[in-house]
Amino acid sequence: MEYKKLLANEVEIFYKNEKLTNNLSKLDYTKEDILEAESRLKRFSSYLKKVFPELEETNGIIESKVVKLDKLKEHLNLNLPMYIKLDSHLPISGSVKARGGIYEVLKFAEEIAIKEGMLSLEDDYEKLASPEFKEFFSKYKIAVGSTGNLGLSIGIISAKLGFHVTVHMSSDARQWKKDLLRSKGAIVIEYPDDYEKAVFEGRRIASEDPMCHFVDDENSLDLFMGYSVAGKRLFDQLKEMGIVIDDDNPLNVYIPCGVGGAPGGITFGIKTYFGENAKVYFIEPTKAPCMALGLATGLHNDISVKDIGLDGQTLADGLAVGRSSGLVSKIMEDILDGCLTISDDKLYPYMKALHDEENIFIEPSAAAGIHCCSTLENNKEVTKGIHLVWATGGNMVPSEEKNQYLQGKLD
Ligand SMILES: *Cc1c(COP(=O)(O)O)cnc(C)c1O
Repeated sequence: MEYKKLLANEVEIFYKNEKLTNNLSKLDYTKEDILEAESRLKRFSSYLKKVFPELEETNGIIESKVVKLDKLKEHLNLNLPMYIKLDSHLPISGSVKARGGIYEVLKFAEEIAIKEGMLSLEDDYEKLASPEFKEFFSKYKIAVGSTGNLGLSIGIISAKLGFHVTVHMSSDARQWKKDLLRSKGAIVIEYPDDYEKAVFEGRRIASEDPMCHFVDDENSLDLFMGYSVAGKRLFDQLKEMGIVIDDDNPLNVYIPCGVGGAPGGITFGIKTYFGENAKVYFIEPTKAPCMALGLATGLHNDISVKDIGLDGQTLADGLAVGRSSGLVSKIMEDILDGCLTISDDKLYPYMKALHDEENIFIEPSAAAGIHCCSTLENNKEVTKGIHLVWATGGNMVPSEEKNQYLQGKLD
């Protein structure tokens, strides 16, 4: 198999999805599921606004801006207009995980509170901030395996609600993320092996405890639906900005992919709302191209990058994943336009260019999407419409570490 060989050789590729149908009716999920998730987030908005003052401005809604990048477009010599979706600056946890991760914990909290007769859908959820609820939630546990940003989201919201929360992390997760989590009251357990091992152990320990809810990055439909709300929000947002998306002016979206949950859910949301007027591409490091490998071979989560001799170690720590989510990979077969890979040595330059030209800082993983603009213009895959780079993380990075990143000093 051609792609398998290219990926094994760590070559930058563009894999165009030949199995694309854009047939949403084939899927088990619909627009109704997205709307249900959005309603749930609305129910929680009064609670969120009360406990996170930063959400005052958006009335308890966790959302990010879309910004035009004229200077970076010029710098990169692009033909088409370039925009960025700043999930890197989402409130509460400063990454795309503030969508799915927080959503899943809120859903769990709602379910148990309703089941115990403490809450009904019509209530003002502000009452969840009371000591009575904190006490109630403290009887339950939340656990998650994470490369970093998912752990941050789950840890912060779980601790805020009052849950007992444990984050199982691979040791390649950044130190400041572990420190921050511990400072919020989460328990952090580190694993010297990789991310898959951290998830495996977390899942095993949680499965032995009936009071524990495990947030399963590889299989969670709740995470997926939380992320999918982004598609609807983006639809409303572009409309509000006066950006017309149609056949003549399609939306081309580039999202960094790890296990696939975040970019997969967002893609489902985007395709549901924009239909074929949107094209979505994932970008992964050449050292950990799990989604490209699973799709190109048709093996989905039955193949790992280790099977082709890669160790999955990359500077893009948020994307250091060896095996994609089977749930997501199978859905993407129908609705994802393609996958690209990027070598690690380009991440810092893209991150720095965005910072120098536009004064926006995002983490190296999150800068991967920028690579898609020139690549897809040059190979004529994208010839019209607008580029939308999905920035997935960076706002929580401490300033000292930020400076080191910008000087290219971190590994
Ligand atoms: C988690 C993450 C991604 C990708 O999300 P997956 O659900 O793992 O595919 C991309 N960028 C950053 C910064 C992330 O933290």
